[in-house]
Amino acid sequence: MKIVIIGAGAMGGLFAARLAAAGEDVSVVDVWAEHVETIRTQGLILETGEGEVRTKPAAVTRVEDLAACAADLVIVFVKSGMTAAAARSAQTILGPVGRVLTLQNGLGNAEMIAEVFGADRVLAGTTAQGATLIGPGRIRHGGRGDTHIGRLTGPVDDFCREAAMILSRAGIPAIAEDAVQSLIWGKLVINVGINALTALLRFTNGQLNDHAETRELVKLAVAEAVQVAAASDVRLPYDNAVEKVLAVAAATATNRSSMLQDILRGRATEIDAINGALVREGVRLGVPTPVNATLTLLIKALEKQQGICG
Ligand code: NAD
Repeated sequence: MKIVIIGAGAMGGLFAARLAAAGEDVSVVDVWAEHVETIRTQGLILETGEGEVRTKPAAVTRVEDLAACAADLVIVFVKSGMTAAAARSAQTILGPVGRVLTLQNGLGNAEMIAEVFGADRVLAGTTAQGATLIGPGRIRHGGRGDTHIGRLTGPVDDFCREAAMILSRAGIPAIAEDAVQSLIWGKLVINVGINALTALLRFTNGQLNDHAETRELVKLAVAEAVQVAAASDVRLPYDNAVEKVLAVAAATATNRSSMLQDILRGRATEIDAINGALVREGVRLGVPTPVNATLTLLIKALEKQQGICG
């Protein structure tokens, strides 16, 4: 299977390195010229607990440079604000029966890709893998866990199973799943409870459990998310969402959430795809979400205060 990854940052870099190390035909597209040039000249280095893995996937800054490629699978791993641009790029390289996979966080990424290709050609899901971009050409593998892949519409098919098998063979354990919206929402609700609050308070995930006030804020934000999920006819993959979010915060106690990392690095956050998306869905479905609306506005104000253009 010919695979192209659009967005070769932390996660795209991790997947590219693992797939290339397993001998798969994988190329990366990233707009960051220095990163691409480093991959081309020195290779892509993945730091793992067991040492460094160095690979040299084909790397380009412009998708046109892969024009003859006809990819079977394009994996979109840009931040959610860039998904529409990445989907347009994918048009140039996706083969006639190829599909596009998103494992990004937040709501709406798969639907944005479906606007370009049609829902039938979109695979979506979640990954419990984690990674950090250290610098040009260098990624650090963080948390490990399962990746779930499904079709945006309809039950899993052979293509889905093959994609999951290729990832698993490359050391990214992946499972083909039917209930993809449940998984996406399950991760969304966790991000809704953790990301904005840790970014605003400059807290590690575990610190949310340390104070009655922050536990209450998590509870209020997550309760709204549960109501919007129910109104969307989505069944969450756990029974007690507040308990689940606080348990995840405890299990990842020393982690800085991606939103906190984005704020600390002066980069745009994914607030519009997380708490912001929940507010939009709430408006659409008639479910009030005042806590998430406030969290969204606070993060946007913080971005502006730090000179970050959303
Ligand atoms: P990142 O910022 O490290 O990487 C994104 C990359 O996309 C950057 O290298 C950037 O230069 C590139 N890019 C931006 N616009 C582009 C475009 N139009 N075309 C090509 N490349 C472009 O982000 P990340 O941490 O890898 O996160 C990617 C997605 O995966 C996000 O939705 C995130 O929430 C999700 N995710 C991240 C982790 C993690 O541990 N980092 C875990 C699970 C899910």
